[in-house]
Amino acid sequence: MRFTTPHGSVRYRLPWSWSAFDYRHLCQLLYEQSGSRFQTATVKGVSDEGTLAAEVIPVVTDRGVLRAPLVVDALGWRRVLGRSGYQPPAAPLSRGLEVHPHGQSEDLDVWIERSMVRRGYGWRVPAAGEARVGVASYAPGGHVRRPTDQLAARLELEAVRYQGNWFPHRLRPAVEGSIFFVGDSAGHCFPLSGEGIRTAFYFGIACGRELTAVLEQRRSRAAALERYASFSAGHARAFAVAGALQRTIPALPPRLLMSGLRLLARQWLIDRTFGWYLDQAHPSFALPEPR
Ligand SMILES: Cc1cc2nc3c(=O)[nH]c(=O)nc-3n(C[C@H](O)[C@H](O)[C@H](O)COP(=O)(O)OP(=O)(O)OC[C@H]3O[C@@H](n4cnc5c(N)ncnc54)[C@H](O)[C@@H]3O)c2cc1C
Repeated sequence: MRFTTPHGSVRYRLPWSWSAFDYRHLCQLLYEQSGSRFQTATVKGVSDEGTLAAEVIPVVTDRGVLRAPLVVDALGWRRVLGRSGYQPPAAPLSRGLEVHPHGQSEDLDVWIERSMVRRGYGWRVPAAGEARVGVASYAPGGHVRRPTDQLAARLELEAVRYQGNWFPHRLRPAVEGSIFFVGDSAGHCFPLSGEGIRTAFYFGIACGRELTAVLEQRRSRAAALERYASFSAGHARAFAVAGALQRTIPALPPRLLMSGLRLLARQWLIDRTFGWYLDQAHPSFALPEPR
């Protein structure tokens, strides 16, 4: 992984490796293992006839009302089934945009340059024959289109196949009434890095285990909701630390930031720092017997 500022670059050998993957293929593989039925519909909210804590929750969609005792909102930062949504720009959301041109690179590159984005960073992620190049702003009103285009041009890559969205940088309650919230809807995207896929899986697995326990009648729904809510809240400290770094790092004078990045370049420090980062949502959690 390489970090670049206006005052130089440092390259770290991480104790683990990042993975990029093909989103569609991953979803297909997961679906094949799921044994579930899948329907698409636009979710509008919980019907007035029910409350979030009802025994059977009526969810209104454009294809009718779906009633179920176990409901998970994995609808992203809008938290459609929650009592109060977020409205950018007045919300703890970051904004990101990336392009997916053909191209080769080896490192995961990160640029921290105020001239590119005042509070945020740019990146290039190698993904097979593709380079995912983008810019994120920790300010939800920050502009990311122009800096993304400029970064692609600087790397002599084509700005094509845009993908952008807001993503949260603050943990939210993972349960409201009797509804489970997972992923961006619960603010599970990690602040500072904006990594939200691994954490969506991690908390999704925790939620799925609770749902299974209810379906197998090993646990009441109330107990499952409580356990999942406290599991998610148990990560509040790590999210707060990353949130504080997200506020501090962009405020550092660029030379000081570069000195800090150089200081961190000792292998034992890299192993410790990035080891801590991985541990907050460790992939081994997916195993039947997690660490
Ligand atoms: C440009 C960009 C690059 C990123 N890069 C990375 C990265 O490299 N690695 C990483 O880990 N994270 C990355 N993230 C963050 C990551 O994308 C999110 O944290 C992650 O996708 C959250 O997953 P999710 O399933 O909770 O929500 P989402 O991926 O937002 O999925 C929510 C789904 O619900 C659907 N939906 C929303 N509202 C409704 C409705 N009313 N009815 C029906 N369906 C609805 C949406 O269409 C969507 O399919 C990036 C974010 C951005 C914006």
